Amino acid sequence: MTEDQIELPISANEDILPYLDSSDIITYSNAVDIILSSACRNQCTYCSFGGRQKDLVVPYSTIKVFKAARKAGAREANIVSGERPDRFHGIRAKFDVWGFNSYIEYIYTISELAFLEGLLVNLNVGYLSLSEMKYLSDIVATVECNLESLRTDFMDENQVHQFAPSKDPQIRIKFLENAGKLNLPVITGLLVGIGETPEDRIDTLMKIKEIHEEYGNVQLVRIVPCLPVDVNTVLTPGSDLYQHTLETIRIARELLPNEVDITTTVNAFPDVMTLIEHGVTDLGEIRVYGRDCIHTALPFRPLEEYQQVIEDHQYRFLKRLPIKNGYILVQKYSKKLGQFLDKYKVRLKESTKDDKFTLVAL
Ligand code: SF4
Repeated sequence: MTEDQIELPISANEDILPYLDSSDIITYSNAVDIILSSACRNQCTYCSFGGRQKDLVVPYSTIKVFKAARKAGAREANIVSGERPDRFHGIRAKFDVWGFNSYIEYIYTISELAFLEGLLVNLNVGYLSLSEMKYLSDIVATVECNLESLRTDFMDENQVHQFAPSKDPQIRIKFLENAGKLNLPVITGLLVGIGETPEDRIDTLMKIKEIHEEYGNVQLVRIVPCLPVDVNTVLTPGSDLYQHTLETIRIARELLPNEVDITTTVNAFPDVMTLIEHGVTDLGEIRVYGRDCIHTALPFRPLEEYQQVIEDHQYRFLKRLPIKNGYILVQKYSKKLGQFLDKYKVRLKESTKDDKFTLVAL
Protein backbone atom coordinates (compact mmCIF):
# COMPACT_ATOMS: atom_id res chain seq x y z
CA MET A 1 0.00 0.00 0.00
CA THR A 2 1.42 3.40 -0.89
CA GLU A 3 1.10 6.42 1.38
CA ASP A 4 -1.44 7.93 -1.04
CA GLN A 5 -3.71 4.96 -0.49
CA ILE A 6 -3.71 5.25 3.29
CA GLU A 7 -7.16 6.44 4.23
CA LEU A 8 -7.40 7.82 7.74
CA PRO A 9 -10.34 10.19 7.59
CA ILE A 10 -12.30 11.46 10.51
CA SER A 11 -15.48 9.72 9.60
CA ALA A 12 -19.06 10.97 9.53
CA ASN A 13 -19.77 9.57 12.96
CA GLU A 14 -16.51 10.67 14.49
CA ASP A 15 -16.87 12.00 17.99
CA ILE A 16 -14.23 14.70 17.73
CA LEU A 17 -15.76 17.96 16.68
CA PRO A 18 -13.87 20.98 15.48
CA TYR A 19 -14.18 23.77 17.99
CA LEU A 20 -12.55 27.07 18.72
CA ASP A 21 -10.83 27.58 22.03
CA SER A 22 -13.16 29.19 24.51
CA SER A 23 -13.08 29.76 28.24
CA ASP A 24 -16.10 27.48 28.74
CA ILE A 25 -14.44 24.45 27.15
CA ILE A 26 -12.60 21.75 29.09
CA THR A 27 -10.83 19.22 26.91
CA TYR A 28 -9.36 15.76 27.24
CA SER A 29 -7.57 13.32 25.02
CA ASN A 30 -8.69 9.73 24.82
CA ALA A 31 -5.36 7.93 24.85
CA VAL A 32 -3.66 4.60 25.16
CA ASP A 33 -0.21 4.26 26.75
CA ILE A 34 2.58 2.17 25.30
CA ILE A 35 5.68 1.78 27.46
CA LEU A 36 8.57 0.95 25.17
CA SER A 37 10.97 0.12 27.98
CA SER A 38 11.44 0.84 31.67
CA ALA A 39 15.22 0.80 31.23
CA CYS A 40 16.57 4.29 31.79
CA ARG A 41 20.00 5.84 31.95
CA ASN A 42 18.80 7.93 34.90
CA GLN A 43 17.58 6.92 38.32
CA CYS A 44 15.36 9.63 39.78
CA THR A 45 14.50 8.83 43.38
CA TYR A 46 10.74 9.17 42.83
CA CYS A 47 10.48 6.90 39.79
CA SER A 48 10.08 3.14 39.44
CA PHE A 49 11.80 3.17 36.05
CA GLY A 50 15.56 3.14 35.81
CA GLY A 51 18.21 0.53 36.37
CA ARG A 52 19.22 -2.25 34.07
CA GLN A 53 15.99 -3.96 33.10
CA LYS A 54 16.03 -5.17 29.53
CA ASP A 55 12.31 -5.07 28.78
CA LEU A 56 11.48 -3.77 25.34
CA VAL A 57 8.18 -3.79 23.50
CA VAL A 58 8.09 -5.90 20.35
CA PRO A 59 6.89 -3.53 17.61
CA TYR A 60 4.30 -5.79 16.05
CA SER A 61 2.74 -6.60 19.42
CA THR A 62 1.55 -2.99 19.57
CA ILE A 63 -0.76 -3.35 16.57
CA LYS A 64 -3.51 -5.20 18.43
CA VAL A 65 -3.31 -2.69 21.30
CA PHE A 66 -3.62 0.25 18.92
CA LYS A 67 -6.53 -1.41 17.12
CA ALA A 68 -8.42 -2.09 20.36
CA ALA A 69 -7.73 1.41 21.64
CA ARG A 70 -8.98 3.00 18.45
CA LYS A 71 -12.10 0.87 18.65
CA ALA A 72 -12.61 2.15 22.20
CA GLY A 73 -12.46 5.73 20.89
CA ALA A 74 -8.79 6.58 21.46
CA ARG A 75 -7.13 9.09 19.17
CA GLU A 76 -3.79 9.31 20.94
CA ALA A 77 -0.97 6.84 21.40
CA ASN A 78 1.02 8.12 24.35
CA ILE A 79 4.39 6.49 23.77
CA VAL A 80 6.52 6.48 26.91
CA SER A 81 9.94 5.10 27.74
CA GLY A 82 12.74 5.32 30.22
CA GLU A 83 15.39 7.59 28.80
CA ARG A 84 17.79 6.08 26.27
CA PRO A 85 17.25 2.38 26.92
CA ASP A 86 19.67 1.89 24.03
CA ARG A 87 22.39 2.71 26.55
CA PHE A 88 22.13 -0.96 27.59
CA HIS A 89 23.79 -3.66 25.56
CA GLY A 90 20.93 -6.18 25.96
CA ILE A 91 18.50 -3.73 24.40
CA ARG A 92 20.81 -2.75 21.54
CA ALA A 93 21.16 -6.44 20.81
CA LYS A 94 17.38 -6.68 20.32
CA PHE A 95 17.44 -3.81 17.82
CA ASP A 96 20.09 -5.72 15.87
CA VAL A 97 18.01 -8.89 15.87
CA TRP A 98 14.87 -7.02 14.78
CA GLY A 99 16.71 -5.17 12.01
CA PHE A 100 16.70 -1.62 13.39
CA ASN A 101 19.76 0.53 12.90
CA SER A 102 18.96 2.61 15.95
CA TYR A 103 16.60 3.22 18.84
CA ILE A 104 15.19 6.20 16.95
CA GLU A 105 14.33 4.01 13.97
CA TYR A 106 12.54 1.66 16.36
CA ILE A 107 10.50 4.55 17.82
CA TYR A 108 9.61 5.71 14.31
CA THR A 109 8.31 2.26 13.39
CA ILE A 110 6.04 1.97 16.44
CA SER A 111 4.77 5.52 15.93
CA GLU A 112 3.97 4.67 12.33
CA LEU A 113 2.08 1.56 13.40
CA ALA A 114 -0.03 3.77 15.69
CA PHE A 115 -0.63 6.23 12.87
CA LEU A 116 -1.75 3.49 10.52
CA GLU A 117 -4.35 2.47 13.10
CA GLY A 118 -5.72 6.04 13.23
CA LEU A 119 -3.86 7.29 16.31
CA LEU A 120 -1.60 10.31 16.65
CA VAL A 121 1.49 10.01 18.81
CA ASN A 122 2.59 11.99 21.82
CA LEU A 123 6.19 10.96 22.41
CA ASN A 124 7.49 11.01 25.98
CA VAL A 125 10.85 9.23 25.95
CA GLY A 126 13.20 11.75 27.53
CA TYR A 127 15.89 13.77 25.83
CA LEU A 128 16.23 13.69 22.04
CA SER A 129 18.84 15.57 20.01
CA LEU A 130 17.75 18.08 17.37
CA SER A 131 18.48 15.65 14.53
CA GLU A 132 16.65 12.78 16.25
CA MET A 133 13.64 14.98 16.92
CA LYS A 134 13.68 16.22 13.33
CA TYR A 135 13.55 12.67 12.01
CA LEU A 136 10.71 11.73 14.37
CA SER A 137 8.75 14.94 13.75
CA ASP A 138 7.64 13.35 10.50
CA ILE A 139 5.47 10.86 12.40
CA VAL A 140 4.82 12.21 15.91
CA ALA A 141 2.27 14.94 16.62
CA THR A 142 3.69 16.20 19.91
CA VAL A 143 6.76 15.64 22.04
CA GLU A 144 6.87 15.78 25.80
CA CYS A 145 9.61 16.65 28.25
CA ASN A 146 8.91 17.78 31.77
CA LEU A 147 11.17 20.69 32.73
CA GLU A 148 10.49 19.72 36.37
CA SER A 149 12.60 22.39 38.06
CA LEU A 150 15.36 24.88 37.31
CA ARG A 151 17.18 23.89 40.51
CA THR A 152 20.62 22.52 39.59
CA ASP A 153 21.34 21.49 43.21
CA PHE A 154 18.76 18.69 42.85
CA MET A 155 21.62 16.89 41.09
CA ASP A 156 23.84 17.08 44.18
CA GLU A 157 24.55 14.20 46.53
CA ASN A 158 21.44 12.78 48.25
CA GLN A 159 19.11 14.86 46.09
CA VAL A 160 16.36 13.60 43.76
CA HIS A 161 18.43 13.88 40.58
CA GLN A 162 21.81 12.79 41.92
CA PHE A 163 21.80 9.83 39.53
CA ALA A 164 19.98 11.56 36.70
CA PRO A 165 22.54 13.61 34.78
CA SER A 166 20.15 14.43 31.95
CA LYS A 167 17.78 16.11 34.43
CA ASP A 168 20.14 19.06 34.21
CA PRO A 169 17.67 21.92 33.55
CA GLN A 170 19.83 23.19 30.68
CA ILE A 171 19.38 19.87 28.88
CA ARG A 172 15.61 19.95 29.39
CA ILE A 173 15.46 23.54 28.16
CA LYS A 174 17.46 22.51 25.09
CA PHE A 175 14.84 19.86 24.33
CA LEU A 176 12.02 22.39 24.51
CA GLU A 177 13.95 24.83 22.33
CA ASN A 178 14.76 22.12 19.79
CA ALA A 179 11.05 21.34 19.51
CA GLY A 180 10.42 25.05 19.01
CA LYS A 181 13.00 25.24 16.21
CA LEU A 182 11.24 22.34 14.50
CA ASN A 183 7.79 23.92 14.89
CA LEU A 184 6.74 20.89 16.91
CA PRO A 185 4.11 21.28 19.66
CA VAL A 186 5.51 20.38 23.05
CA ILE A 187 4.11 19.31 26.41
CA THR A 188 6.08 20.19 29.50
CA GLY A 189 5.55 20.98 33.14
CA LEU A 190 6.90 20.88 36.65
CA LEU A 191 6.95 18.57 39.63
CA VAL A 192 5.48 19.66 42.93
CA GLY A 193 6.90 18.14 46.12
CA ILE A 194 10.52 17.29 45.29
CA GLY A 195 12.00 19.81 47.70
CA GLU A 196 11.38 22.96 45.68
CA THR A 197 10.13 26.25 47.12
CA PRO A 198 7.11 28.24 45.87
CA GLU A 199 9.58 30.69 44.28
CA ASP A 200 11.28 27.81 42.43
CA ARG A 201 7.91 26.82 40.94
CA ILE A 202 7.35 30.35 39.71
CA ASP A 203 10.86 30.41 38.18
CA THR A 204 10.10 27.19 36.30
CA LEU A 205 6.78 28.53 35.04
CA MET A 206 8.44 31.76 33.92
CA LYS A 207 11.00 29.78 31.93
CA ILE A 208 8.21 27.83 30.22
CA LYS A 209 6.49 31.11 29.45
CA GLU A 210 9.70 32.53 27.99
CA ILE A 211 10.14 29.50 25.72
CA HIS A 212 6.54 29.76 24.56
CA GLU A 213 6.94 33.48 23.84
CA GLU A 214 9.95 32.70 21.68
CA TYR A 215 8.70 29.64 19.80
CA GLY A 216 4.91 29.58 20.29
CA ASN A 217 4.82 25.79 20.64
CA VAL A 218 3.95 24.96 24.27
CA GLN A 219 0.51 23.41 24.10
CA LEU A 220 0.09 21.89 27.54
CA VAL A 221 1.72 22.42 30.93
CA ARG A 222 1.42 19.65 33.50
CA ILE A 223 1.55 20.61 37.15
CA VAL A 224 2.39 17.21 38.58
CA PRO A 225 2.20 16.31 42.28
CA CYS A 226 5.10 13.98 43.04
CA LEU A 227 3.26 10.87 44.27
CA PRO A 228 4.63 7.47 45.21
CA VAL A 229 4.16 5.29 42.13
CA ASP A 230 2.14 2.68 44.05
CA VAL A 231 -0.33 5.23 45.42
CA ASN A 232 -3.90 3.95 45.24
CA THR A 233 -5.88 6.68 46.95
CA VAL A 234 -6.50 10.23 45.87
CA LEU A 235 -4.79 13.16 47.61
CA THR A 236 -6.35 14.34 50.85
CA PRO A 237 -7.83 17.83 50.58
CA GLY A 238 -5.81 20.15 52.81
CA SER A 239 -2.61 18.06 52.67
CA ASP A 240 0.54 19.96 51.70
CA LEU A 241 0.87 18.29 48.32
CA TYR A 242 -2.78 18.91 47.50
CA GLN A 243 -2.58 22.59 48.50
CA HIS A 244 0.77 23.27 46.80
CA THR A 245 -0.40 21.68 43.57
CA LEU A 246 -3.62 23.70 43.50
CA GLU A 247 -1.75 26.89 44.29
CA THR A 248 0.75 26.21 41.51
CA ILE A 249 -2.10 25.58 39.05
CA ARG A 250 -3.61 28.93 40.06
CA ILE A 251 -0.31 30.76 39.55
CA ALA A 252 0.34 28.97 36.27
CA ARG A 253 -3.07 30.12 34.97
CA GLU A 254 -2.19 33.69 35.89
CA LEU A 255 1.28 33.60 34.33
CA LEU A 256 0.77 31.60 31.15
CA PRO A 257 -1.15 32.84 28.11
CA ASN A 258 -4.62 31.40 27.59
CA GLU A 259 -3.62 29.35 24.56
CA VAL A 260 -1.41 27.21 26.81
CA ASP A 261 -3.60 24.59 28.47
CA ILE A 262 -2.95 23.48 32.02
CA THR A 263 -3.45 20.01 33.38
CA THR A 264 -2.43 17.84 36.32
CA THR A 265 -2.62 14.22 37.42
CA VAL A 266 -6.41 14.42 37.38
CA ASN A 267 -6.95 10.91 38.77
CA ALA A 268 -5.00 11.91 41.94
CA PHE A 269 -7.63 14.48 42.96
CA PRO A 270 -11.04 13.79 44.49
CA ASP A 271 -12.86 16.66 42.79
CA VAL A 272 -12.36 17.72 39.20
CA MET A 273 -14.24 21.01 39.62
CA THR A 274 -11.73 22.21 42.24
CA LEU A 275 -9.01 21.70 39.64
CA ILE A 276 -10.98 23.59 37.00
CA GLU A 277 -11.74 26.45 39.38
CA HIS A 278 -7.99 26.82 40.01
CA GLY A 279 -7.12 26.90 36.31
CA VAL A 280 -7.03 23.40 34.83
CA THR A 281 -8.37 23.60 31.26
CA ASP A 282 -7.55 20.13 30.03
CA LEU A 283 -7.86 16.75 31.78
CA GLY A 284 -4.91 15.36 29.81
CA GLU A 285 -4.92 11.76 28.71
CA ILE A 286 -7.94 9.81 29.89
CA ARG A 287 -7.33 6.13 29.33
CA VAL A 288 -10.57 4.57 28.22
CA TYR A 289 -8.51 1.62 27.06
CA GLY A 290 -5.87 0.55 29.61
CA ARG A 291 -4.60 2.42 32.64
CA ASP A 292 -2.36 5.29 33.62
CA CYS A 293 1.09 3.85 32.91
CA ILE A 294 2.75 5.56 35.89
CA HIS A 295 0.15 5.36 38.65
CA THR A 296 -1.31 2.03 37.68
CA ALA A 297 -3.13 1.63 41.01
CA LEU A 298 -4.90 4.95 40.62
CA PRO A 299 -7.73 4.38 38.16
CA PHE A 300 -9.51 7.06 36.18
CA ARG A 301 -13.15 7.56 36.94
CA PRO A 302 -15.54 6.79 34.08
CA LEU A 303 -15.55 9.46 31.41
CA GLU A 304 -19.30 9.98 31.88
CA GLU A 305 -18.69 10.96 35.48
CA TYR A 306 -16.30 13.75 34.49
CA GLN A 307 -18.69 14.79 31.74
CA GLN A 308 -21.67 14.98 34.07
CA VAL A 309 -20.02 17.11 36.71
CA ILE A 310 -18.29 19.42 34.21
CA GLU A 311 -21.46 20.00 32.19
CA ASP A 312 -23.46 20.54 35.37
CA HIS A 313 -21.17 23.52 35.94
CA GLN A 314 -21.92 25.02 32.51
CA TYR A 315 -18.69 23.99 30.79
CA ARG A 316 -18.52 21.99 27.60
CA PHE A 317 -16.42 18.84 27.89
CA LEU A 318 -14.82 17.97 24.56
CA LYS A 319 -12.55 15.30 23.28
CA ARG A 320 -9.58 16.73 21.43
CA LEU A 321 -6.91 15.40 19.17
CA PRO A 322 -3.43 15.07 20.70
CA ILE A 323 -2.41 18.24 18.85
CA LYS A 324 -4.35 21.38 19.76
CA ASN A 325 -6.77 22.93 17.29
CA GLY A 326 -4.81 26.17 17.30
CA TYR A 327 -1.69 24.34 16.16
CA ILE A 328 -3.63 22.42 13.54
CA LEU A 329 -4.87 25.71 12.07
CA VAL A 330 -1.30 27.01 11.69
CA GLN A 331 -0.11 23.61 10.50
CA LYS A 332 2.38 22.65 13.17
CA TYR A 333 2.48 19.12 11.80
CA SER A 334 4.30 17.19 9.10
CA LYS A 335 3.16 16.51 5.56
CA LYS A 336 2.71 12.89 6.51
CA LEU A 337 0.36 13.70 9.39
CA GLY A 338 -1.44 15.98 6.94
CA GLN A 339 -3.01 12.82 5.46
CA PHE A 340 -5.01 12.74 8.66
CA LEU A 341 -5.06 16.34 9.81
CA ASP A 342 -5.63 18.35 6.61
CA LYS A 343 -9.28 17.31 6.41
CA TYR A 344 -9.80 18.21 10.02
CA LYS A 345 -8.15 21.58 9.45
CA VAL A 346 -10.54 22.37 6.58
CA ARG A 347 -13.55 21.61 8.77
CA LEU A 348 -12.05 23.62 11.59
CA LYS A 349 -11.65 26.62 9.28
CA GLU A 350 -15.23 26.24 8.06
CA SER A 351 -16.50 26.19 11.62
CA THR A 352 -14.71 29.47 12.35
CA LYS A 353 -16.11 31.41 9.36
CA ASP A 354 -18.91 33.06 11.28
CA ASP A 355 -16.53 33.94 14.07
CA LYS A 356 -18.79 32.03 16.39
CA PHE A 357 -17.84 29.31 18.82
CA THR A 358 -19.98 26.78 17.04
CA LEU A 359 -19.56 23.07 16.93
CA VAL A 360 -19.90 21.56 13.49
CA ALA A 361 -20.44 17.85 13.17
CA LEU A 362 -18.27 16.31 10.50
S1 SF4 B 1 14.46 10.02 33.66
FE1 SF4 B 1 12.27 9.69 33.70
S2 SF4 B 1 12.01 7.48 33.38
FE2 SF4 B 1 14.14 7.81 33.95
S3 SF4 B 1 14.20 7.48 36.16
FE3 SF4 B 1 13.91 9.70 35.82
S4 SF4 B 1 11.68 10.06 35.83
FE4 SF4 B 1 12.05 7.83 35.60
